[in-house]
Amino acid sequence: MLCGPAMGSEAARLLEAADFAARKHKQQRRKDPEGTPYINHPIGVARILSQEAGVTDIAVLQAALLHDTVEDTDTTFSEIEEQFGEEVRQIVEEVTDDKMLPKMERKRLQIERAPHSSRGAKLVKLADKLYNLRDLNRCTPAGWSEQRVQEYFLWASQVVKGLRETSPALEEKLQQLFRERGLPE
Ligand code: NDP
Ligand code: ZN
Repeated sequence: MLCGPAMGSEAARLLEAADFAARKHKQQRRKDPEGTPYINHPIGVARILSQEAGVTDIAVLQAALLHDTVEDTDTTFSEIEEQFGEEVRQIVEEVTDDKMLPKMERKRLQIERAPHSSRGAKLVKLADKLYNLRDLNRCTPAGWSEQRVQEYFLWASQVVKGLRETSPALEEKLQQLFRERGLPE
C-alpha cells in the first residue's frame, strides 16, 4: 500500500491543494478593476480542466490549483514536492516562469518551451491561457490600453500553437477567442 504526501482520497487531495493555494495567495488580488481575490484564478483553471477538458487526473488538477504559488508567493518547489509529491512538483515547475529573467525573455521562453512540455503541463497551460483571456474579455485591467490587451492575445496565441493536440475542447475554445480578435489560426 502506497502512502505519503500525495495519497488520501481524491477529494481530500484536491482540497489540500486548494487550501494550500488559498493560504499562499491570501494577500493577492487579480488585475481586474474590482481586485478579485487571486485564488479565484487557480480554482477557475482547475475547474476548466475538470469541467471543460474532462481531466480526472488528480495530480494535474492539484498542479492547476498550485500553478502560480511558486511564481507569485514565497512557496518553494521542495515544499510542493513534500506536500503533494514528485509528479505535482514536476508540473508546477514546468509552468513556472523564472522571475530572475526580464519579462520579455520570460514571454519568449514560454513560446519556445511550450511544445516540449509534458502533457500535464500542456493541459495546465491551455486552461491558464483560456482563463486569462476570458478574464481580459470580461474586463480590462486598470491601466491597460486596448493595444496591450490585443498584444496579450497575440502572445497567448503563439504559446497555444505549441500546445496543440493536447485537449481538442480547450484548443477549440481558444481558437474561437483568437478568431474573434482577428488573429491567424
Ligand atoms: P503581464 O504579464 O504584466 O500581465 C498578464 C498576467 O497577469 C497574466 O498572464 C496573468 O498571469 C495575470 N493576471 C492577473 N489578473 C489578470 C486579469 N484580470 N486578466 C488577465 N490576466 C491577469 O502583462 P503583459 O503580458 O501585457 O506585459 C508584459 C510586460 O510588458 C510587462 O513588463 C508590462 O509591464 C510591459 N508592458 C507592456 C505593454 C503593452 O502594451 N504590451 C504596455 C506597458 C508595459 P497569471 O496566470 O500568472 O495570474
Ligand atoms: Zn495562472
